[in-house]
Amino acid sequence: EFRPSVRVGALGVSEILQIGARAAEMKRQGGNIIILGAGEPDFDTPEPIKAAAAQAMRRGDTKYTALDGTPALKAAIAAKFQRDNGLTYETNEITVSTGAKQVLFNALMATLDPGDEVIIPTPYWVSYLDIVQILGGVPVLVPCREENGFRLDPQDLEKAITAKTRWIILNSPSNPSGAAYSAEQYRPVLDVLLRHPQVWIMADDMYEHILYDGMTFASPAQVEPALKSRTLTVNGVSKAYAMTGWRIGYAGGPAALIKAMAVVQSQTTSCPSSISQAAALEALTGDQSVLAERCRSFQERRDMVVSGLNAIPGLTCQTPEGAFYTFANCAGVIGKTTPDGAVITDDREFCNYLLAAVGVAVVPGSAFGLAPYFRISYATSMAELRDALARISRAVAALS
Ligand code: PLP
Repeated sequence: EFRPSVRVGALGVSEILQIGARAAEMKRQGGNIIILGAGEPDFDTPEPIKAAAAQAMRRGDTKYTALDGTPALKAAIAAKFQRDNGLTYETNEITVSTGAKQVLFNALMATLDPGDEVIIPTPYWVSYLDIVQILGGVPVLVPCREENGFRLDPQDLEKAITAKTRWIILNSPSNPSGAAYSAEQYRPVLDVLLRHPQVWIMADDMYEHILYDGMTFASPAQVEPALKSRTLTVNGVSKAYAMTGWRIGYAGGPAALIKAMAVVQSQTTSCPSSISQAAALEALTGDQSVLAERCRSFQERRDMVVSGLNAIPGLTCQTPEGAFYTFANCAGVIGKTTPDGAVITDDREFCNYLLAAVGVAVVPGSAFGLAPYFRISYATSMAELRDALARISRAVAALS
């Protein structure tokens, strides 16, 4: 009889995947369903990147590569950190993995012992919690209030730090809230961290290039150079270049940490895909104009979704600074009754109702640790978003 390990048995299947699977099944059965759950750009990978991958294949770059990234890609990553973030990393301070998710996993696997604490600002990207738990670490959730723009309050952070704190995971712009920190907004948070040398900083900069209204991107080690010796600056090509399926993520950090991460990688994936690394090299060194173009397109969608949501009585939505998610407050519909006589008791029930009544799949805030909210991923066409907003409006109007 199958028996999962204690570590894995304690974890559930991701709620986002469950909702996605249910919505996809409804669609297969002919339902008119709009899925706003997925965390990936709807754009295609730019042609020059695909061409670089094809060339790599033909050239015979189809073998194992150096364990944690080809020298050429590491050099391109070092140049990227310098160009975009003013951060200097040597090649032995850079790692490349099968997605930023593996970067995070490697780093936590390489550093966490059972009982070690990891501070996770909430709402969080679900994988932070699950990875920490799978490794026997203790997630310490610190709520980031809507009144504070879903950013961390330095006093709350101070209270959460203990002698056992190993890491804090900072993610700006954030999945799921879209909140981003300017250098000034990071300052008080980083000041707290300066006082606690046992705490390392995981800076998840995945959505760096999806930032709106002319805001300047800030990375923790850039804002506070004194923290660089205990910061892992994580990034990747998935979101920026619409390359989620290529599975390339990377990071810059202290050489000793990078080396320990390579040990983990050597016993899991051996190296990231050679072909994908060639593609990522082109992404980072080729024409970057695609970044700004796509960002403009995302901003247009954000503006429409935010104003559409705020026009619905009972829902309110702050304007996110980045990423491609809105995190709307649905407190105004909790306690209301559906046409079928069911009471909307929480954000999960609200999302279930939206899917069942009008065929719109969104994810409840509670899946990301903060209720009552729901996340829309607006990485889809304006037409589909317009349709979805009209449907949500209809569904909310039918509540009594
Ligand atoms: N970090 C955040 C905040 C994300 O939302 C994601 C993907 O959803 C990742 C990291 C991982 O991206 P990948 O593994 O595709 O590089």
